[in-house]
Amino acid sequence: MLNIILMGPPGAGKGTQAMKIIAKYQIPHISTGDMFREAIAEGTPMGKTAAGFINAGNLVPDDVTIALVRERLSKPDCAHGYLLDGFPRTIPQAEALDTLAKEIKRPITLVIDFECARPELIRRISGRRVCAVCGAPYHVDTLKPKVEGICDLCGGKLIQRKDDNVESLIVRLEAYESKTKPLLEFYKKRKLLVSVDGLKGVDVLFQELVPLLDRIGTK
Ligand code: AMP
Repeated sequence: MLNIILMGPPGAGKGTQAMKIIAKYQIPHISTGDMFREAIAEGTPMGKTAAGFINAGNLVPDDVTIALVRERLSKPDCAHGYLLDGFPRTIPQAEALDTLAKEIKRPITLVIDFECARPELIRRISGRRVCAVCGAPYHVDTLKPKVEGICDLCGGKLIQRKDDNVESLIVRLEAYESKTKPLLEFYKKRKLLVSVDGLKGVDVLFQELVPLLDRIGTK
């Protein structure tokens, strides 16, 4: 069963691999970052609460984030697996996820940790562009779309995220170190953690993940 979590600092390659994984394995992509950005674009009350935290690079409070994931995981499309990207990011979120996953009888089967050195994270995030419609990630130098400014997958317009600037990134990296990194130990103890080298090329890394995902998927 593919009930997977992708973890790692911003820019480590989670989103890029997520797009490839969901295309091959047909499981829903649950990106809390994308869900918050949608809520902000729609101007919902939750979006308004989240916007201040996100633009400054801070984590959105746990109660708001957990409620969002609780609702999403209860949807029928998660009954055959799911890919969490950017959740959990704190110990209380991971504990809440344990309960939620048990409730829907889809316990976590694998946590993939993307390792990537800080200078490369900064390079990637400062040149990152994302599709305004489907969220697919690109890079101005190293992951260009076929047609400039246009998403290969859905034809949407490519934009730069508001929080993809050096000031917010420094806050985001600090939040990762202090709040999210402890989760590696949490999942290591449960024997669910696999670490991969986020510096590898997109296709090389995906080819490494496939046998692992195939094995987990048939269990
Ligand atoms: P991402 O697209 O995963 O980089 O997330 C963008 C921003 O959304 C983060 O910097 C946080 O402000 C917020 N966010 C996304 N996921 C979470 C989460 N699990 N907990 C708290 N804040 C989150």
